[in-house]
Amino acid sequence: MADTIKALTIDVEKDGWDKSRGFVMRDVPMPVLDEKKNPEDALSVILKIRYAGVCGSDRGLWYRSAWKDMVHESLAREKKTTRINGHEFVGEIMEVGSMVERLYHDPDENNPVKIEKGSLVSGDSHVTCGRCYQCRIGEEHVCLNEAILGISIDGIFAEYMKIPAKNLWAVDQSRIRPEVASILDPFGNAVHAATSVDMRGQRVAIFGCGAIGLFSVLLARNFGAAKVIAVDVNPANLAMAKELGAHETVQIQKKKKAHEWEADDEALVRVRELTYGKGVDIAMEMAGPASSLNNCIASTRRGGHVIVFGIKDGDVTVPDFSRMVVVRGLTLHGIIGRRIFATWQIAQRVLSDKTNGVQDKIWNVILKKGKGTVLDFADFTPESFEKAMAEHPKIVFRIKG
Ligand SMILES: [Zn+2]
Ligand SMILES: [Zn+2]
Repeated sequence: MADTIKALTIDVEKDGWDKSRGFVMRDVPMPVLDEKKNPEDALSVILKIRYAGVCGSDRGLWYRSAWKDMVHESLAREKKTTRINGHEFVGEIMEVGSMVERLYHDPDENNPVKIEKGSLVSGDSHVTCGRCYQCRIGEEHVCLNEAILGISIDGIFAEYMKIPAKNLWAVDQSRIRPEVASILDPFGNAVHAATSVDMRGQRVAIFGCGAIGLFSVLLARNFGAAKVIAVDVNPANLAMAKELGAHETVQIQKKKKAHEWEADDEALVRVRELTYGKGVDIAMEMAGPASSLNNCIASTRRGGHVIVFGIKDGDVTVPDFSRMVVVRGLTLHGIIGRRIFATWQIAQRVLSDKTNGVQDKIWNVILKKGKGTVLDFADFTPESFEKAMAEHPKIVFRIKG
């Protein structure tokens, strides 16, 4: 095999963080398992990456609007200046460390999908320590020492990659197409968010209809929400939300405001009308800006739930916090990552059910059957990548598909 492979990287030295943007395609060493040098390689595998999803967090890295500290601090620790990006993947196991079979190969003969050489796998992007308090009590998604692929350790926008076997989730190719399997990780974010409260019979507003907001529309319907209201600034995203099953859509009109964190009053009036004056039971913040958080808080009824998922660097102002949140008895849920692997199991079941239409809608509507959304990694250019990011809520690299 070749000594070097192609990888898409972020370079923190050049120009400084705030003045630069984009990723650089470069040759990096082929990853190898070398248990003499790194004993923990016994627990890892080498993957050939077939498809890789481009996440909202990759957009944040591309435009340098998020993750600045995590990228810098982790690179300083590793004494490096470039990070391989990307964390959503499906790939084939090419090589396994000497302990992988003993620890990660399911002995159940009835399980047709296994962690073994030749298997197709996806996996969680959070590499957890297994030793901290949270890991020990089964809350690995909030591990004290977690590293996130493509942000605080090297990721998967590359032809090959080394990854701990404990992160892998074996994919049954007869049930999930590979392009969709490559986005199990962000779909899992939406599953985690949508299962954090009981949605049966509830009115749910989803603020921000990028990929994970759109997945949330599908899931809210699937989990029995009584009314799903999709809110976004972009009419194309709202049209998709409608096609995916949103009962109502509300477009936020961009207006000049005294502060960027101020709520969008006209949209809130519309949400209130659609809930007969009550406000929604559950609001999902899936966009990031402070104004979106304030929209969620203001549109939720007394006693309701606000699910906070969007990420943006910097401070947030919530005006009149005590009255709006405490006195009104709201519950705020911060959602990060996925429950490992409880969320993955639910995600797989929802996608494998051929009658609920979820997998087909992801492929036909969000990924537009691959038209303009599946990009050949070998043909990467900054211009075509930026264009695809601007035109579609979700894009996927075909690397060795
Ligand atoms: Zn992601
Ligand atoms: Zn831990």
